[in-house]
Amino acid sequence: MTRLGSGLLAGLKVTWRNLVRRSVTQHYPDVKPELPPRSRGVIALQEENCTVCMLCARECPAWCIHIDSHKEVTPAEVEGGRDRSHNMLDRFAIDFSLCMYCSICIEVCPFDALHWSPEFEYAEHDITDLVHEKDRLREWMWTVPPPPALDPAGEEPKEIKAAEIAAAKRAAPPPPVDPAGPQ
Ligand code: SF4
Ligand code: SF4
Repeated sequence: MTRLGSGLLAGLKVTWRNLVRRSVTQHYPDVKPELPPRSRGVIALQEENCTVCMLCARECPAWCIHIDSHKEVTPAEVEGGRDRSHNMLDRFAIDFSLCMYCSICIEVCPFDALHWSPEFEYAEHDITDLVHEKDRLREWMWTVPPPPALDPAGEEPKEIKAAEIAAAKRAAPPPPVDPAGPQ
C-alpha cells in the first residue's frame, strides 16, 4: 500500500513539474523550424550538368527516378572528323511518394547534377502531384545552400591547376608570323 502511494506521488510530481515548465513546442507553420543547411528536404536538379548517364536511376533502390532522352548528332566541324553524338534530356522526374531520402542518387551522380535542398513544404492532397518533373526539380536549385568554404590550408585541387594552365595557354599571344612564309 505504501509503495503504491509513493508511486502515485512520484507520478504527480512529474505531472506538476511538466505543468509549470515552459512549452518547447514550435508553433509550425507560424514558427519555421531551424533545420541544418544539409537537411534532406527535397532533391534539386541542375539540368545543365546532367549527361543522362542513367546512374542515378539505376542505383535508386525505390525505382522512383524516371528519365527519358534522345540522341542528337552534331556533324564533324572539319572534313574527315567524326560526328559527335549527345544525349538530350527529355524527361527527368522524381516520385517523392516513393523516395526514401537515402541520398544514393546524389552520391552516385558523377557530374554534380543532383543536390539536397532543405525545403520540405511540398505536401500535396493528391499523391500523383508528388511526382516532380524537371522544371520543378530545377526550381528547387534556388533553395540549395552554397557549399561550405574551402579549407585554406587544403591542397589545391588538380582540376583548378589544370584549368589555370588551359586559361593561360588561351590568353597567350599567338606565335609571330614568319614574313618569308613557310619554307
Ligand atoms: S534519395 Fe534514394 S530513393 Fe530517393 S530518388 Fe534518390 S536514390 Fe531514389
Ligand atoms: S547520375 Fe547525374 S548525370 Fe547521370 S542521369 Fe543521373 S543526374 Fe544525370
